[in-house]
Amino acid sequence: MTTTKTADVDGTLAQVYALASAGADIVRITCNDVDAAAGLAEIVPRSPVPIIADIHYQYRLALAALEAGVAGLRLNPGNIRKEDQIKTVARAASDAGVPIRVGVNAGSLDKKLLAEYGGPVAEALVRSAEKEIGYLEDVGFHDIKISVKHSNVPTMVESYRMLAERIEYPLHLGVTEAGPPPGGLIKSVAGISTLLLEGIGDTIRFSLTADPVEEAKAGRQLLEYLGLRERTTVDLIACPSCGRAEVDVIDVAERARAALEEAALPIQVAVMGCVVNGPGEAREADIGIAAGRGKGHLFIKGQVVRVVPEEEMVEALLEEAERLVAEGVDARLAAADGDAGRVAEETRIELLGTQGDPNQTAARRAAVAEVAGREPSR
Ligand code: SF4
Repeated sequence: MTTTKTADVDGTLAQVYALASAGADIVRITCNDVDAAAGLAEIVPRSPVPIIADIHYQYRLALAALEAGVAGLRLNPGNIRKEDQIKTVARAASDAGVPIRVGVNAGSLDKKLLAEYGGPVAEALVRSAEKEIGYLEDVGFHDIKISVKHSNVPTMVESYRMLAERIEYPLHLGVTEAGPPPGGLIKSVAGISTLLLEGIGDTIRFSLTADPVEEAKAGRQLLEYLGLRERTTVDLIACPSCGRAEVDVIDVAERARAALEEAALPIQVAVMGCVVNGPGEAREADIGIAAGRGKGHLFIKGQVVRVVPEEEMVEALLEEAERLVAEGVDARLAAADGDAGRVAEETRIELLGTQGDPNQTAARRAAVAEVAGREPSR
């Protein structure tokens, strides 16, 4: 959702473009007065993504937003409560072929429901949605999407589960007023992921107290990490580091993240602190780098393909990642430095010699032999 004044057409459009570039498929914009509605009329035809008008209190602004050509309306049942007004909007939306999201929010729930239930509990949120759906269906309107947002994660999850059992319409998920990162991100991921993994939810929004571009990025990344969207950006995995680390993993991972994100490569990249365990543990990654004795060991699908000085490892990783995306895994494995594997193995054995075997393989083999009463055949 944009944070600019909607009447500021150029400023709002700049934010819409930034959100779309960060991964937003649709953008919501407030329509809180007549100037905002007029702004929407200019924004909609120039937007790269569908625009949803956010309507509170004044049903006439929903009608104005429809005139402006928006692709969807969000109505808050907590503050547009008159049945005839809601039905008027529904008829106009039907004529325009525009869907309505019934956006129930715990913070602005109908006072009667609040009094009846003693607070914004799940049943109260769902009842509010059902009542609004009833008004829309009364005039033959069924192009509906629902949200029942709450700032408390367990209550949010309970509300959506209840709603999913009772209605067939698509659901828009979100933890409302989640706050600034990192807490806001954690709450949003917890609530939204729980539901998506249960097959509940059709669209999502992270409501962060932050630059809205961060919301779009986080939402997009979550969908990619859950396997619900094709990867369009880099997925950086990195070891947590430990006493074996041969390099400052946090610093290298941060520098790699910055370089790779700018390159926007759709691959999984691993940054590992040591060559003893790194290439093996990250063999599922498309490409990675592991440190050892002042060198960076570049590996593709677990196979070391190049060894570079440690200070050049991030640049080498970026260069190899770009070539991997352009040429493919087989071509880059075929182009591997024939000596890289040997150098990496020598470093690994050297580190094992000074630090010991992290997997304690020799000790475990000896223990197996002792329990079995004989030496293994190989
Ligand atoms: S890859 Fe090496 S440095 Fe990183 S956690 Fe594993 S053993 Fe430690």
